[in-house]
Amino acid sequence: MALGQSYEVSVVGGGLGGLTAALALRHKGLRVTVLEQAAELGEVGAGIQTAPNASRILMRLGLRRQLEAIRTEPQDQVRRRWQDGSIIGLTPLGRHVQEKFNAPYWHYHRADLHRTILQACTDPLGSGPAVRIHTGSRVVDVDRTRPDRPTAVTQDGVRHEADVIIGADGVHSRVRDLIGAEDTLVFSGDMAFRTLIPGDLLRSDPATRFLFDRYQSTIWYGPGRHLVHYVIRGGEWLNIVGCVPWKAEYGEKKTFAGTTDMLVDAYADWDDRAPAILAKAKGDITCFPLYHRRRDPNWVDGQVALLGDACHAMLPYQAQGASQAMEDAAVLAEELGAVTRDNIASALQRYVNRRSRHAGMVQQASLRNQIFYRYADGPEQQARDTELGDAFDGESDVSYDWLWSGTPLDTADDESFAYRHHH
Ligand SMILES: Cc1cc2nc3c(=O)[nH]c(=O)nc-3n(C[C@H](O)[C@H](O)[C@H](O)COP(=O)(O)OP(=O)(O)OC[C@H]3O[C@@H](n4cnc5c(N)ncnc54)[C@H](O)[C@@H]3O)c2cc1C
Repeated sequence: MALGQSYEVSVVGGGLGGLTAALALRHKGLRVTVLEQAAELGEVGAGIQTAPNASRILMRLGLRRQLEAIRTEPQDQVRRRWQDGSIIGLTPLGRHVQEKFNAPYWHYHRADLHRTILQACTDPLGSGPAVRIHTGSRVVDVDRTRPDRPTAVTQDGVRHEADVIIGADGVHSRVRDLIGAEDTLVFSGDMAFRTLIPGDLLRSDPATRFLFDRYQSTIWYGPGRHLVHYVIRGGEWLNIVGCVPWKAEYGEKKTFAGTTDMLVDAYADWDDRAPAILAKAKGDITCFPLYHRRRDPNWVDGQVALLGDACHAMLPYQAQGASQAMEDAAVLAEELGAVTRDNIASALQRYVNRRSRHAGMVQQASLRNQIFYRYADGPEQQARDTELGDAFDGESDVSYDWLWSGTPLDTADDESFAYRHHH
């Protein structure tokens, strides 16, 4: 990049979205500072999946080798029927997606994925200026007295002046409020149970050993609720996400600790394998209400823009929230990396134009699965199961081709994108 083009970007929020953006912007030669409210950067103890649309971006950022060391590769995605555990749909993953989409479908421990991206951000030997990270820095105000030098102000009064501010501060985004974006937050009526179960416990029980015969990404469909699980860290843990209706008795609670009994009870009348798995959950069961945002294409105001859950929080029913944030990051870096500091506002607008429709479609597709996964037994459920049994890789009325191909990127300048597993 020509001298003088390298300007300053403040990224508010050091989650998976903010850090991927910081890394992508660094690669374009921009000087990035991440402001994170937490005292320490990190992610929760849970799993995460990246479909090819996101894996492709992480590869382009040069992370293939590091990701290969932390990923677990599922061979298929299976959908099971609640009552008897029978398989109603199967989508091949593994080599099939590698070849079809030129990028893998992988599972990780969230902390491993987050650490990998963080290390690449701060690596002194990486391409572009190393990202500066400020923890314990909660942004409470954005001062735009000078619109071309927006300034993030933290709780302790420190002012971080830059040329661009990216609000990657999650579903309850403060930056979003500060730029006057519409209040689009919606409570879904659902809650999630999240926990990790030790692989050893599951392998030693004949009722649950099948989980390790062949690694799969599993979704159980049942009336009014569903259940997701997959293996991470090469079999060390089974990641569990149970999605069930929120109960009025939980009141105004945000996140709270669940019990093994609560988890088992939520699926007690399901195929024996479901409660057999869940009964092995010990401690660290987290329950939280699921919020999402209405589609809204306004992600930018002058030289401040939003990214990730801050602008398109979605239900986790396509496993795409962080993946869409990674797509945002890649497009944002292409647009900002192509302009000088005089043309930032138009670059941000192009970023939003390229991303908002697509992300909105994923929000909708995720929302539709709240119904599609959970029909009561009857004609709609039967029609769905027949359709899934027939289709090779369809889900809801959204094809994975569209989702997993991702937003088109300009790959011309980036040799690292070349997929090398053939060599
Ligand atoms: C149960 C469940 C399963 C999921 N599974 C998947 C999956 O398999 N694949 C996938 O792609 N997605 C998945 N998601 C979605 C994914 O977790 C989120 O979409 C993603 O983490 C959002 O990243 P983000 O960086 O936008 O926001 P966040 O991860 O929320 O990060 C925001 C960061 O900003 C910080 N912050 C907030 N306010 C401020 C402030 N004022 N000042 C400074 N810092 C601030 C926060 O501390 C946080 O670190 C799942 C979600 C759930 C709930």
